[in-house]
Amino acid sequence: MKADLDYIARRFQFFNDKIFGGCLTVPPMRFSHSRRGIAACRVQRQGADADHCDVKELTFSDLYDLPPEVWDDIIVHEMIHYFIASFALHDTAPHGELFKGFMRSINAKFGMHISVRYKLSSDDKYVGRNKVHIIFVITATDGSTYVMSLPRKIDMIVALSHHLATDARFVRYEIFVTANTFFDNIPVCRKRLRMVPMAADALATNLADAIPMTLRDGKLVRKAL
Ligand SMILES: [Zn+2]
Repeated sequence: MKADLDYIARRFQFFNDKIFGGCLTVPPMRFSHSRRGIAACRVQRQGADADHCDVKELTFSDLYDLPPEVWDDIIVHEMIHYFIASFALHDTAPHGELFKGFMRSINAKFGMHISVRYKLSSDDKYVGRNKVHIIFVITATDGSTYVMSLPRKIDMIVALSHHLATDARFVRYEIFVTANTFFDNIPVCRKRLRMVPMAADALATNLADAIPMTLRDGKLVRKAL
């Protein structure tokens, strides 16, 4: 999902209460178009005292399409910076011992996965570029059609294909690769498989320039025409 300021502000308040005991004031927050970093906590040094900083703002990039739990990790990461700067705490580096100590205890206590750097998976594409979707179009025995959006995980694609081919409730399935933005809002199945009902004519229109794919020797390949 793409985050917006309203969403970030709500999560900030949620984590402020849950993790930081409500001690943080809401800083200025804005979105940027940064491709270099997903988020940043910008501070201004106050005079000669290097430990005393004023937080200028928290910035988030609007170019990333990330799962909500990754956004949460990123928001709390910036909140740790903000907490350290707000109370003028001394750390050994921007991600020094103090930062890492907070990070580890929050991860352990709240089951989060905050890290110093974010490794983005291949599915987390820039929104600026069109995302490529792997779409399953499924026809049920009653004639209704469904779509499923799969991540680029061949094991999942093979397992789903096998399931659809052997389940008597479905008569047909087809696989397409498409960059049509129409499919941006179909949630990608990560842990749970979700079928989204969709009218066949809407599908036909939006799959007009999609590439039909097929499985061959355990690989997803372009279907021979
Ligand atoms: Zn950081």
